[in-house]
Amino acid sequence: MMRRIVAILMAGLIVGQLFAKSVDVDIDFYTPDPSIDLLEDVEGTEVKNIILMIGDGMGLGHVAMTRFYAVGANGRLTMERFPVTSFVNTHSAKQLVTDSAAAATAMSTGVKTNNKMISVTPDMLELPTVLELAEKKGLSTGLVATSTVTHATPASFAAHEKKRKDEDKIAADMTASGVDVLMGGGREYFVGPDDSEGKRDDDRDLFREFADHGYDTVTTREGMLKSTGDKLVGLFEYHAMTSEGDEPTLREMTAKALDILSRNENGFFLMVEGSQIDWAAHDNDPDGIVYHTLHFDLAIREALEFAKKDGQTLIIVTADHETGGVTIPKGDLDGDDLDVDFSTGHHTATPVPLFAYGPSAERFSGMMDNTDIAKRIAELLGLEGLEEAVTP
Ligand SMILES: [Zn+2]
Repeated sequence: MMRRIVAILMAGLIVGQLFAKSVDVDIDFYTPDPSIDLLEDVEGTEVKNIILMIGDGMGLGHVAMTRFYAVGANGRLTMERFPVTSFVNTHSAKQLVTDSAAAATAMSTGVKTNNKMISVTPDMLELPTVLELAEKKGLSTGLVATSTVTHATPASFAAHEKKRKDEDKIAADMTASGVDVLMGGGREYFVGPDDSEGKRDDDRDLFREFADHGYDTVTTREGMLKSTGDKLVGLFEYHAMTSEGDEPTLREMTAKALDILSRNENGFFLMVEGSQIDWAAHDNDPDGIVYHTLHFDLAIREALEFAKKDGQTLIIVTADHETGGVTIPKGDLDGDDLDVDFSTGHHTATPVPLFAYGPSAERFSGMMDNTDIAKRIAELLGLEGLEEAVTP
């Protein structure tokens, strides 16, 4: 027995050394946060605006490895300066390990569904989302992502479909949702039949339909920066965003969304997703995790700068699930010689961190369920009708 355990330990050591990956990525774009102090939370409980920021697949290991590499063990990412933290359980209705669709449905509707489903119950009733209820109440709403905007996470805030892969149907749902700002990739699902890159089965040109409904529609960073409208659809790639070419960064998209949405006196709800942290983790690519987590952190800083000035904005930063089973077996305090291990190329059931700043941030502490996020958002914004499933 003893010999067997030793053999397993030895094998584990060898395998561990074989599979640990060192981190080496250019992060010149990231300026460290000037302070490492915990932020003081704002006084008062009046919540006018909520910004929900989802790092797809971003577990505590992803946050920690990114900090070690970018600012050292004694530094802090911006999200790590938020005064309120908690952990979130992520299981879906019937599975311990969730996918992004069921997880985002929980966070947007307060109800757990099956993996692959977009804001519908397992028996196909439609679940109202916090974004839709905010629209109904006269708030402005926005969705920003670096994947296609029709990908599972953003989709679950403004669409209702049985299958997450039906991105053309999701695009049509989103067009009807009333969302005021929609930015990211995925133009292929919105363009009409005369665009050879288009992937729609019908003859609709949703990009044109948005324009007909008074939206500015743009496809370049410059177009986005120049837009002056109160509604904006920016689809910068046919597929997912690439971090190359004529694209805005996640931070720039966040800034633009805040500029537009904050014009509404009634307030706003904005969801921003760092979509590709998850993809790097699926690839067991530590460099990609660091790169995308830092871009996400800069978007968080943009939101924080807005919230600090505004005083009535609550920011919630969390993840939909952990991806990769990330651990950090080796490194020094400066983040040199950093090794990262992965236990899987898939999602895990490990709870994810949540960071909150702003009025009523303390409502997001303790051990939470992912459905609590939607419930508390609805409560704080005074939204009615959450968890009331309807026949489509
Ligand atoms: Zn995900």
